[in-house]
Amino acid sequence: MDQITVNQNISAKSSPLNKDKVKFDYMTITIFSMVSIFALIATPLFGYFYGYSQLDWILFVVLYMITGLGITVGYHRLISHRSFTCATPVKIALLIAGGWALENSALKWCSDHIRHHAKTDTDEDPYNAKKGFWHSHVLWIFIKDQNPGGREKYKAALRKDKWIMWQDRHYLAVVVSGLVLPFVIGFLHRGWIGAISAFLLAGVFRVFLVLNSTFFINSICHIWGTQPYGDANSSRDNWWISLLTFGEGYHNYHHNFPRDYRNGPLWYNFDPSKWLIFSFFVLRLGKKPS
Ligand SMILES: [Zn+2]
Ligand SMILES: [Zn+2]
Repeated sequence: MDQITVNQNISAKSSPLNKDKVKFDYMTITIFSMVSIFALIATPLFGYFYGYSQLDWILFVVLYMITGLGITVGYHRLISHRSFTCATPVKIALLIAGGWALENSALKWCSDHIRHHAKTDTDEDPYNAKKGFWHSHVLWIFIKDQNPGGREKYKAALRKDKWIMWQDRHYLAVVVSGLVLPFVIGFLHRGWIGAISAFLLAGVFRVFLVLNSTFFINSICHIWGTQPYGDANSSRDNWWISLLTFGEGYHNYHHNFPRDYRNGPLWYNFDPSKWLIFSFFVLRLGKKPS
């Protein structure tokens, strides 16, 4: 579905929210397009002509895990759902790791997500899957919020947290640090070629994959899959999405039990995020909410 079709579909809705003309967020469109072009064209081309070192691949895997868990454990289960509490250094580390995903500050991401749970499948749901796969996957980030007052309501509680506000103020520096890190390590390993190769693979390509794996939750997990815990909303379970998203594929369970720190409640569910949170409990770095 192209943007014009989406625009028409959105405009065709009868809600008062959609009577205004849709405004595009050109900054986000530009950044996402550049990340996609670098990830899908420059990264394979560079690999073809110069190759990637073992260190590049290790950095890619490690940073994919850190960034992905920053989103799932930090932004999602800690900040948005308060499904556990943790020591301040752990919280700061998770806020930095989540920021490396280029998915906006926790203040913005989490207010959108709290709103998604409160208004699932309605016009006020930022990534309403009823508007189609491409809208809920990525196009929603290209459209300026038509109801910013509505978002502000969900930000209010988050604004009381000084570490969320600290991350919001320094968001650009956090994002840059996540790209500079592989660049510097690559440079120290094998000079300018190493800097560029680590930046492309463990920086830009890693960001592209984490972005799209997160988007899968909003699109695939609201369109296809099973609904073992009920069909009151469009959320669905997909165990295989959990393989990419550190356990977030059990989305039907999650919508029904959003305060549970687990998304995959059964012992054999692949949910590395719950394992990490459980390890915080064991190490006395975190605990379940009282
Ligand atoms: Zn959630
Ligand atoms: Zn959802």
